[in-house]
Amino acid sequence: MQVHDAEIIISAVSPKQYPDTGLPEFALAGRSNVGKSSFINKLINRKALARTSSKPGKTQTLNYYLINKMFYFVDVPGYGYAKVSKTERAKWGEMLETYFTTRTTLLHVLLMVDFRHPPTADDIQMKEFIDYYDIPYTVVATKCDKIKRGKWNQHASIIKKAMNLPSMDSLIIFSSETGEGKEKVWKLLEQYL
Ligand code: GDP
Repeated sequence: MQVHDAEIIISAVSPKQYPDTGLPEFALAGRSNVGKSSFINKLINRKALARTSSKPGKTQTLNYYLINKMFYFVDVPGYGYAKVSKTERAKWGEMLETYFTTRTTLLHVLLMVDFRHPPTADDIQMKEFIDYYDIPYTVVATKCDKIKRGKWNQHASIIKKAMNLPSMDSLIIFSSETGEGKEKVWKLLEQYL
């Protein structure tokens, strides 16, 4: 897809602020620093529409990006902040549960994990959560440029096994540096558009 138009719509603090246009949306979930902002920027060929290295403390905002006035990317706040308090984490969980269970325009979740390492307990929990609510998802393994090609199968198998993925089709190996996987991601999204 040629992206000719991309804009940040809102950092929504409460569901009342989620757009009511009815346009389809794709959520990006994953740990802080996994590469979500870089992923968005790479897909839309922008250097910095999505702010990279977003800081903790904004654990409860959903960032809406409108693409080609056609659909949204929704950057879901990252989990795995060591310093977040229990109360904040509980609020984050509530927000996410409400979002995943009530947002009828949410079509697919891209669950981002770091290709370099085995998935964390948080990654696995998030996958189970998405599965439980029966939302279609694909795991996007980021930063593959950091791993030698000869090791890709091994890393992919570890992720598939740890996350109990039905097949390798549920995993896209990605890099914001090289653009690896970008076409696959677009193909996936275009099925819905
Ligand atoms: P976010 O917190 O999930 O939005 O993560 P960012 O997009 O801000 O990325 C966190 C850090 O990882 C930044 O320093 C990025 O430059 C780096 N990064 C993100 N994606 C990639 C990638 O595919 N390859 C490499 N080598 N670095 C990446």
